[in-house]
Amino acid sequence: MARYTGPACKLCRREGKKLYLKGDRCVSGKCALERRTSAPGQHGADVKKMREYGMQLREKQTAKRYYGVLEKQFRGYYESAAAAPGKTGDNLLITVERRLDNVVYRMGFAMTRRQARQLVSHAHFTVNGRKVDIPSYQVKAGDVIEVAESSRSSEIFKRLLGQDAPVFLIPAWMEREKNALKGTVTRLPAREDIDVPVEEHLIVELYSK
Ligand code: SF4
Repeated sequence: MARYTGPACKLCRREGKKLYLKGDRCVSGKCALERRTSAPGQHGADVKKMREYGMQLREKQTAKRYYGVLEKQFRGYYESAAAAPGKTGDNLLITVERRLDNVVYRMGFAMTRRQARQLVSHAHFTVNGRKVDIPSYQVKAGDVIEVAESSRSSEIFKRLLGQDAPVFLIPAWMEREKNALKGTVTRLPAREDIDVPVEEHLIVELYSK
């Protein structure tokens, strides 16, 4: 499974936005973007006037990096979103938000989406009682996400027992049980539930050319 393995903070500096790729560090004074805001590279500090195409491209890159999705899969999401009823941009964001790795992260079972993706790939979670090891699995309303019984003794999950998910993470469309390593997707997300720092209409404009 292809994935980006380079430095996470470099991606934030490239986009000039916090993408929250390193867990607690992102909300601390150690965040690289707060210490250095220029883009990486020798000419990173150059002030460039971005043309329309450049802005659309940056917005797409931001969304892909935020969710840790590569181009081919993201384009596939766009095509499904364009074919579905409703606003394409809304459909696109709702689709990436419904990925199982994102839901595991949002429920507070992983520090980052990258870690959530790895935990899901290693079959540490069940959906409605069945093990699912596909990070891109699309959750549905009513799905119950739980740490697999065989993984509950692992240190990474033991420390979560009795804790709430961080309040800045858990959105209104899901809930997590405090004394069980378990959460429920209570409904599907709407656009207003999604706090991703992108203007999705720019992504739609880019792909629809
Ligand atoms: Fe981005 Fe987090 Fe690194 Fe800050 S600490 S630059 S938000 S990955």
